[in-house]
Amino acid sequence: MKQLELVLQNPTGLHARPAKVLVNLAKQFKSGISLQHGAKRANAKSMVSVLTLGANKGSRITITVTGEDEETAIAELEAAFRSGLGDTDLPAEPGPAAPAPPVSAKEAGFRAELEAAFRAGGGTDLPAEPRPAAPATPGVLKGVGAAPGIAVGPIFHFQPVEVDLDHLEALPGDGRMSLEEALVRAKAQLTELHQQMVNKKLGAEAAIFEAHVELLEDPELAQDVQARIAAGQSSVKAWKTVIDEHAAVIATLKDPLLAARADDLRDVGRRVLRLMLGLSDKGVSMPSTPVVVIARELSPSDTASFDTERVLGFGLVEGGPTSHVAILARALGLPAIVGVEEAMLALADQTPVILNGNDGTLTVNPEPDVLARASEVQRRFLEYRRFAVLQAALPALTLDGRHVDVTANAGSVADAAEAMKMSADGIGLLRTEFLFLGRTTAPSEEEQFSVYRAIAETMKPLPVIVRTLDIGGDKPLPYILLKPEMNPFLGERGIRLCLNRPALFREQLRAILRAAPFGNLRIMFPMVTDIAEIHQARALIDELRHELDAPAVQIGIMVEVPAAALLADVLAPEVDFFSIGTNDLTQYTLAMDRGNPALAAKHDGLHPAVLRLIAQTIEAAHKYGKRADICGELGSDTAAVPILLGLGMDELSVSIPAVPTVKAQVRGLNISDLQPLARQALTCSSAREVRELVKKQLG
Ligand code: PEP
Ligand code: MG
Repeated sequence: MKQLELVLQNPTGLHARPAKVLVNLAKQFKSGISLQHGAKRANAKSMVSVLTLGANKGSRITITVTGEDEETAIAELEAAFRSGLGDTDLPAEPGPAAPAPPVSAKEAGFRAELEAAFRAGGGTDLPAEPRPAAPATPGVLKGVGAAPGIAVGPIFHFQPVEVDLDHLEALPGDGRMSLEEALVRAKAQLTELHQQMVNKKLGAEAAIFEAHVELLEDPELAQDVQARIAAGQSSVKAWKTVIDEHAAVIATLKDPLLAARADDLRDVGRRVLRLMLGLSDKGVSMPSTPVVVIARELSPSDTASFDTERVLGFGLVEGGPTSHVAILARALGLPAIVGVEEAMLALADQTPVILNGNDGTLTVNPEPDVLARASEVQRRFLEYRRFAVLQAALPALTLDGRHVDVTANAGSVADAAEAMKMSADGIGLLRTEFLFLGRTTAPSEEEQFSVYRAIAETMKPLPVIVRTLDIGGDKPLPYILLKPEMNPFLGERGIRLCLNRPALFREQLRAILRAAPFGNLRIMFPMVTDIAEIHQARALIDELRHELDAPAVQIGIMVEVPAAALLADVLAPEVDFFSIGTNDLTQYTLAMDRGNPALAAKHDGLHPAVLRLIAQTIEAAHKYGKRADICGELGSDTAAVPILLGLGMDELSVSIPAVPTVKAQVRGLNISDLQPLARQALTCSSAREVRELVKKQLG
């Protein structure tokens, strides 16, 4: 037996993320591992058990390991605890709220209009963080802004069916299934939700559903449920009771972040229960016309499965701006407010409201002029989007006749089909990570081949840029990256990881090369920092092409590390194209974690320092007759598009829904106006100044 005592340093205790890292690590050892905190003891291989410890910063924890690999286990656990258990991107503690000046309902509505109009115009320098709630005004309910934007529409009460175990026969369900079947089905649903989030490039949000899968597989829960079933309880009752009991214990913990995980457990519990009872996935049938959803609380699963065409936004009585649901709302672009006065729940269905996610207000039965203005802004934006979709098939030709390729960022065969529907000029970034995430082993060469081939065939003859595996950073893969890193974004990610794991890299490259003849595939390497990486990767491709007798493919690199941008003129002769990854390029240039919500407003790719690197990269590419594309989020930022085109960008690869609107925007621009604008932007001193410049010159 090995024992170790340490003091927990994580600022918010053993909340979901560090608990997950700990549990995953513990599961890799054969030894039994337990944690003792005061009088409480937990199985370190059980998430539920670890969470119920209620360990906060400063808590003294004793780790006990017993078994054949106890030596290694205790050493690795100690190292993991000391390096923070992956706790590198915790949300910043909310600072004291600045007092907001009193505003009337009219002023609040007007402010919303201005902000919404600015958003509709693509402005992104509005504070992304929720602001303190406005003071209560007659007709205005107060809450806290959780996701920016406004939503205008009738309300709809979202009330999932509560399962009453004493009256099971009264429930509408039919297709009932066993607990085992329900667990398998729930896992499949969660894996799909996880995949959808990954495909939308919502890595952090995807992790929520990964955590849900882990809860489903929790050994402690399973043991408790089995014990109850063995004692004669029905599986439905056993499951519900165990979930309720554990959730209740977690909910009573003093730390609100930790206690919020009780919601996750209830969410998972409800999902399985609904499946067992044959109730619909959501437990609620949504109206077919757009609504503003209101509820006491929402689960992450409910939120993730909202059809964003029908749900305009939502207001909740429970929850805080850092909850998973709030994070999801921001990611899905749904305006949201949380912590709203209880009175909201007394409103009748269909009551017209203006939900303002910027200042956290819900204007009930707004005065006609306020409503009209808010509706008008919302209508104009939706109309613009509809119009852009109708015109999507037209080429993105500027007023002075320059053609710009507008391609899509995709992650699956379904995405490729959707990109075609939106008339994308190709796939500018195929994130192949999607195939590798949310599973326990890497996909085989054969599996990869069939996916790449299907995507190539769907897009043919349009080009598809296949980016080789880019994991590490915020996209860890438990079966590949075994050791926690101090600074994962500065660690073994992208091409570095692939070159260090030749077997994995070879399999992926073989799959791509085999799929290449079925369409127009190109290969791109992520995170390139050094010319040697290109040489090594190229040599491997040459060897494999020879082995497979495969045709030549274009080879490019992502320029997302400042070193690559600064050396662009040295790297350009070595490649066929550059694709600028502004998400990472901004992070590394500004030294700001792209996932840190406290820095979200400052993490702006229009910072002149980033723009200078972009300009330099484009210039170097063109000097050698190569293409320069962008595949970071900046490519669909309407304030950035004019600057990027003015700098000479050849292609904008954007999220699929943005393809039509970006094409429409390009059609309204004149390159000859944009070149001097871009030159001026390079001399600005801040991102804010660049945004103001664009607004002033282009309106
Ligand atoms: C980028 O860094 O801009 C990029 C497109 O890659 P990812 O977001 O997948 O890291
Ligand atoms: Mg990147």
